[in-house]
Amino acid sequence: MSPLMPADTLPASAGALLVTPRAGARDVRPGLAGVDPNALAAWMLERGEAAYRARQVADFLWGRGAVSFEEMRTLPAALRDGLVAAFRADTLVETTVLPADAGLTEKALHRLDDGRLVESVLMRYPARDGLRERNTVCISSQAGCAVGCPFCATGELGFLRDLETAEIVDQVRFWRRRLTPLGARVTNVVFMGMGEPLLNVEPVLAAAAALSDPRRFGLGARHITLSTSGVVPGMERLTALRPQYTLAVSLHAARPALRDVLVPLNRRYPVDAVVAAATAYADATGRRISYEVVLIDGINDTDRDAAEMARLLRGRLAHVNLIPMNPVAHTPWRPSPPERLAAFADALRASGLATTIRRNRGLEIGAACGQLAADQAAAPTPAAVGRRRERLERESAAALAGGGA
Ligand code: SF4
Repeated sequence: MSPLMPADTLPASAGALLVTPRAGARDVRPGLAGVDPNALAAWMLERGEAAYRARQVADFLWGRGAVSFEEMRTLPAALRDGLVAAFRADTLVETTVLPADAGLTEKALHRLDDGRLVESVLMRYPARDGLRERNTVCISSQAGCAVGCPFCATGELGFLRDLETAEIVDQVRFWRRRLTPLGARVTNVVFMGMGEPLLNVEPVLAAAAALSDPRRFGLGARHITLSTSGVVPGMERLTALRPQYTLAVSLHAARPALRDVLVPLNRRYPVDAVVAAATAYADATGRRISYEVVLIDGINDTDRDAAEMARLLRGRLAHVNLIPMNPVAHTPWRPSPPERLAAFADALRASGLATTIRRNRGLEIGAACGQLAADQAAAPTPAAVGRRRERLERESAAALAGGGA
């Protein structure tokens, strides 16, 4: 029998509509991909094993992408038994993959040891116009999310639990195993899946360190993007470390009252403080901040919103990425039409801000984060959906009616 501990029983956030299944018990053995190499070396030493055994295990895990200790054939059987008792070679119990965009996008729904579901997405960009092929993996850092952005299926699930370091890293290892037989590799990792990375900051930083460590996954730090909806203490923690990761800040609105509606949990951090913390990161690292803006028809895509955003970001080391809202159930809103996106982008560019419009990938498989996991949850009642829509309409109308705010 596996050593087990009680499930994380944190409740879903009060605003959550979807009824998620109860989690099962969790396996107490840490995932090997989250174990620091020095800790693994110390573990070997304690057992009287030679130091090179830790390097051998690391080679199986990182070099060959092993997902079981049985694959580590050159290790003595007794050592393999010891490893099985102490660690998990892979923390993803079961994965379902759905393809989209003629195979250029694939979405994975991973089941964890306690039954929680998290998602990751592979987006392939073939080489063209002198640009090399890119294979970007978008990963989750939490099951569910407490921030509650109303245009996001994960936000609707509410917070379920933090992922441990290996559960984050193993999503990337999964895609690497899938790409290797195709002669391709993971070139970029973005922490933009389920969850708010900087509310699970230490496992996320440890995962990014494992991914960027040349002795482990070996991806350049500049090919890793950490995202946040504006958790200022987490941004300050990151700035103190001065890594070369790209920081993406989900801004969504420059007007405080509107941002409060769109990023509910982070209303505790004023938008000026969020931009100041991001600017401090840019100053400390020399890295341009990527501001992400999900545009919603008639809500945050007006000329006034573009002007306010230009005023807020003008002159900063910034790039703005405009994203049409992914159509998720249970909101009264629609994505901004293409001409609005273009007008918004033009207004920002006119003030000197580098601005791009992101095309949504994999709409037919629900590639917006949380959509597949939400599909597995029990549907809310029509009355609950109605109340949610009414509340969003009321709050957004109040925010839009507010003067300078
Ligand atoms: S958009 Fe990100 S921060 Fe907002 S609820 Fe969804 S997962 Fe959480």
